[in-house]
Amino acid sequence: MAASSYDTIVVGSGPGGYVAAIRATQLGQKTAVVEYDKLGGRCLNYACIPAKAVLRSADLLSEIRESEEFGLKVSGVEVDYAAIQARREKVVSTLTSGVGGLFKKGGIDVIEGRGSLSADGDVLVQTAGGERLQLGARNVILATGSVGRPIPGVEFGGRVIGTEEAWALPEVPARLAVAGAGASGAEIASAFARLGSEVLLIEMLEGVLPSEDADISRIVERGLKRQGIAVHTSTPVTDVTADESGVTFSYGSDSTQVDYLVIAAGRGADVEGLGLAEAGVTLDERGLVQVDGALRTSRAGVYAIGDLVPGPALAHKASDEGIIAAEDIAGRPTHPLAYVDIPRATFCTPNVGSFGLTEAQAREQGHDVVVGKVPYGAVGGGTVYGDRTGMVKVVGESKYGELLGGHIVGARATELIQELVNVRALEGGFPELARIIHGHPTLSEAVMEAGRAADGWLIHG
Ligand SMILES: Cc1cc2nc3c(=O)[nH]c(=O)nc-3n(C[C@H](O)[C@H](O)[C@H](O)COP(=O)(O)OP(=O)(O)OC[C@H]3O[C@@H](n4cnc5c(N)ncnc54)[C@H](O)[C@@H]3O)c2cc1C
Repeated sequence: MAASSYDTIVVGSGPGGYVAAIRATQLGQKTAVVEYDKLGGRCLNYACIPAKAVLRSADLLSEIRESEEFGLKVSGVEVDYAAIQARREKVVSTLTSGVGGLFKKGGIDVIEGRGSLSADGDVLVQTAGGERLQLGARNVILATGSVGRPIPGVEFGGRVIGTEEAWALPEVPARLAVAGAGASGAEIASAFARLGSEVLLIEMLEGVLPSEDADISRIVERGLKRQGIAVHTSTPVTDVTADESGVTFSYGSDSTQVDYLVIAAGRGADVEGLGLAEAGVTLDERGLVQVDGALRTSRAGVYAIGDLVPGPALAHKASDEGIIAAEDIAGRPTHPLAYVDIPRATFCTPNVGSFGLTEAQAREQGHDVVVGKVPYGAVGGGTVYGDRTGMVKVVGESKYGELLGGHIVGARATELIQELVNVRALEGGFPELARIIHGHPTLSEAVMEAGRAADGWLIHG
């Protein structure tokens, strides 16, 4: 082992790695982060943040287009896509330079290069300048994230692109196809359809957002179709051929040509060249790094977090795992993550926020299920702010009033879901939710009313 120069070395600076590094220094560990690309990881540079920056422009455009309903006549509205992209870059650089600032403040060393593990547990770094460093650390946290995976028989390249590339397209394509209607696919379709593309959204499984509650996924499908998106579910994409001018492919019994085909069909752990086998770090059958509740791998002193390990591939999950790993290294008692309670947010229009079990999952698991469903239109806020079609759905267990799951679709659903997560985290159930006073007129009153509906005494129903 090389002389131990660090207490903790983190490989990868995404929301998992950078949060782990900051927590480690807070706990007195001398820490370094190895990153070969940009600080902030894929999330800040290519994925979550750029996606939401472009979606914000699309949302604003929708509001302006609907403004007549609110008594405002706006004319001459144009999409300046170059300016949208410039704003995206500015949002990204503001946030990534913030990460750099936090590292400086915490005295965290940044080592630019590609990290891997050696057989004796050191971190090897291949720097951009061609240098090869060998660094010793008492503990290593692997946080290298994930990469997009193509669908069988299709390769990325040219106009067949992944979700990260979609948010940085050089133009608004005239015709865009998205294969995969999960969160990323639905977001891309919803943004580009509103910015002016003719969009096809094609999903192999039965509905859009197939992992969401069936009621929610139905409402989202209707919403996406209202934006002019041609949605095809239970339909595989096949026979893809691409050249410089476009992409031709089949979907079901049809075939078509588009300017770009986005493959939004899943991701895989970025373990390439990490030296895991040499270091004795075990992967599971899906190629994810096997960890215990404190994110320890099979190799003593080596932790793995974020998209590298099982659980939902979400930024906030990665960050929480980073905190757990850093605290375990520091000898603090840790709390294993309750994966089912991690909120999920999808920023297409309509917005979706959810946590926990869908109604179908709760029934399959044998719970004595009670459901409370309330449309936004049932409360004043829904009508005042112009979204009566949104819905809050609470899935509960009748005996003790436990909140098993929460599902919200409509304006601000991505923010509203947090209340249900908090109620559950603080060991409240739907009867408690039903009696918490909510401000009026807010959309959050629909969340309270869903608690009342589950408890059998919906007021505005
Ligand atoms: C288009 C898109 C939109 C998304 N939107 C959301 C969203 O809105 N909300 C949400 O919660 N999640 C979202 N996600 C998921 C989210 O991006 C991931 O869950 C999150 O980035 C995982 O964080 P991480 O720290 O594990 O890895 P990453 O963010 O992937 O960061 C890993 C870092 O490790 C670096 N790295 C890799 N290998 C090495 C190596 N050998 N040496 C040194 N550095 C290395 C990479 O360069 C990268 O910077 C989205 C994903 C995509 C693709």
